[in-house]
Amino acid sequence: MKVPEQIAAILGDGTRFLLTSHENPDSDALGSMLALKSLLESMGKSVSLYNATPVPSFLKFLPDSDGVNDSIDGSDGFDVLVVLDCPVPSRAGKKFEKYAASSDARLVIIDHHGEQQTDGAAKWVETGSPATGMMVRELFGKFSVEISRDAATCIYAAISGDTGSFRFSNATAECFFAAADMVLRGADPEAVSSAIYENQSLERMSLLSRVLETLATDATGKVAWVRIDREMFEQTRTTREDTEGMVDIPMSVGGVSIALLFRQEEAGGGTFWKASIRSRGSTDVSRVAAMFGGGGHKNAAGFTFECTTDEALEKIIKEVGGRVGKV
Ligand code: 5GP
Ligand code: MN
Repeated sequence: MKVPEQIAAILGDGTRFLLTSHENPDSDALGSMLALKSLLESMGKSVSLYNATPVPSFLKFLPDSDGVNDSIDGSDGFDVLVVLDCPVPSRAGKKFEKYAASSDARLVIIDHHGEQQTDGAAKWVETGSPATGMMVRELFGKFSVEISRDAATCIYAAISGDTGSFRFSNATAECFFAAADMVLRGADPEAVSSAIYENQSLERMSLLSRVLETLATDATGKVAWVRIDREMFEQTRTTREDTEGMVDIPMSVGGVSIALLFRQEEAGGGTFWKASIRSRGSTDVSRVAAMFGGGGHKNAAGFTFECTTDEALEKIIKEVGGRVGKV
């Protein structure tokens, strides 16, 4: 992995930066934003952080995560906008997309998802990188800036998050080396995993028990899913944020190659469904998600759809089942 000269030049020359990432940020999205902020500030730049959705409670332990804004102050006169862990500005939300389109600032995309068309942006896309945080680590090397303990914690959390705590097929030797480097610089693996996984609310546990009751597989046993509707959220006083990691439930059933989590969400007075889709090994679910207008990585992807009936959901499951062994 090598930092492209064009990206290094833009970051080196810029003075006022706005960093953002995808909506509903995960540890790679936020960890990458916070670590890049640390790097740029060490280089004497001014840096603002923006995300369309608030920092989820399980990521509030990330140093300086309270500095992420939910509004963009254009009067700051940004000259560089950096979109991290996100292939297109639109996934950073409508507000950012509009701002980027109307601003003269240079747009930079640093990401490890598949390449997508984005006019006018300078892009650094490493689809082989386990996490965007690994790319930010390379940037520290490129500019010969020491990674602080706080930045190391953010990069460690980014790598750990996107590799499923070093369990997924993207947990390469390089990412273990990078993680070890972050630990040497002060990242505390126990503190990170404890903050993320041993910090759950009773409400989330109550939701979890209901979600387990919805677990089902298709006739082949190769496709498994769980579903969460609005009523379950209301009854347990939980939100979308409380579903983090629950797609692992169907994935942990033996013999399953594609797992889905269907979640009903509210927007503009109506509801729609969001599907999270996961696979093991060579099954490429980004291609399944693309069939429904979504996208993502080989083993983790997603899409949204309108659906009012159980039959519509069953139709989707059937179509997904038809792709097993073919993607
Ligand atoms: P999650 O299931 O955790 O929400 O998303 C897993 C991955 O799938 C994300 O990292 C993202 O790359 C991708 N993804 C999820 N939802 C969508 C979507 O609606 N559209 C696209 N293009 N990608 C998505
Ligand atoms: Mn990522």
